[in-house]
Amino acid sequence: MPSEKAKENKALVATCSACGKKVSTESAVALTGLEDGRRKQFVVCVGCANHGWRPPGFAGIYSPRPQ
Ligand SMILES: [Zn+2]
Repeated sequence: MPSEKAKENKALVATCSACGKKVSTESAVALTGLEDGRRKQFVVCVGCANHGWRPPGFAGIYSPRPQ
């Protein structure tokens, strides 16, 4: 059941770094990893993050969110 807030943000979509699906930014999280030795934010959907996907070089902590 989409909330009113989700409807307003419908245009905000991101592409998941793990599965390549387009997801709303409300259903995505940004995890900091490394690419070519530099810190980079990888946007992944909550589903992939909850299933354990992490970017290369990820050194933070991810707390699973409800989907
Ligand atoms: Zn994904």
